[in-house]
Amino acid sequence: MKKTSVQCLVALGAALQLWLACGAHASMDVAAVETASYRLLSLAECRALKAQGVITDHNPVPCHRLSKVSFSYASDNGEIKRDGELVVLDVVAPNVAAITDELLARQFFIASARPIEAYGGDDNASMAANNTSAFNGRRITGGSGWSSHAYGVAIDLNPVQNPFIDIRTDGTAQILPPASARYAVNRSDSRPNKTPRSGMAEHVADLFARHGFFVWGGDWNYPIDYQHFQVGPRSFVQTLAAHSVEDGRALLNRYIALYTACMAEGVNEDPFKRQRAGCIEQVFEAMP
Ligand SMILES: [Zn+2]
Repeated sequence: MKKTSVQCLVALGAALQLWLACGAHASMDVAAVETASYRLLSLAECRALKAQGVITDHNPVPCHRLSKVSFSYASDNGEIKRDGELVVLDVVAPNVAAITDELLARQFFIASARPIEAYGGDDNASMAANNTSAFNGRRITGGSGWSSHAYGVAIDLNPVQNPFIDIRTDGTAQILPPASARYAVNRSDSRPNKTPRSGMAEHVADLFARHGFFVWGGDWNYPIDYQHFQVGPRSFVQTLAAHSVEDGRALLNRYIALYTACMAEGVNEDPFKRQRAGCIEQVFEAMP
């Protein structure tokens, strides 16, 4: 599936930003870094997913509606890795490609990005490996409904930097993955005598929203799911998955336009984060 010329212009802009941002890193071969691409999963890939039980005939989204986004990303010590892959609903594939291009342009740290089948569909194993992933044909954690990951419209970003924290009524908490518990529950960034941390989701919550991933689990009271981004509330996820690719993209673009127009208005003088929250409230009110 080819990108539109507008998307290519955006990608070119991102590449230019990367070049400007990386002037000091002469060893980085920026010109060789390709922008993200996407294509529908092949029949063989779908067969493999079914054989592993990562998707079944009972899932809310059939395998032929899933796309693979391939991209480069900045990993350990700024090393550019070219093996990034995220499997998502066909509707949002161009949005995810644009997100990964912008993350690369910012040199935003990503530890690893392999599809969930690399972990046999085991979300805990993917989290423990600090792996960024999207599609997983699984039920909601601790519930019976389908996870938004089963629709291919949710992304879990750097789980060790961005833990899932379930808080029980007795005040105890479960923090996943365990490696994040003593590392990333404290979300402060600039701290005395501590190295600034990278790869934290709050730094890119607005970036994700600008490409249609309006829900961020870091905004929830419980569970607090810092790693989790998705396109909208459950009703919108189902609406989006019920549309054709073209209609779904047109629908999602309406809400992206609403959000970006709201942010451009500078609706108030509050700190940036409150402005994001206010604009996302407007989007949620408009969504089905
Ligand atoms: Zn998630």
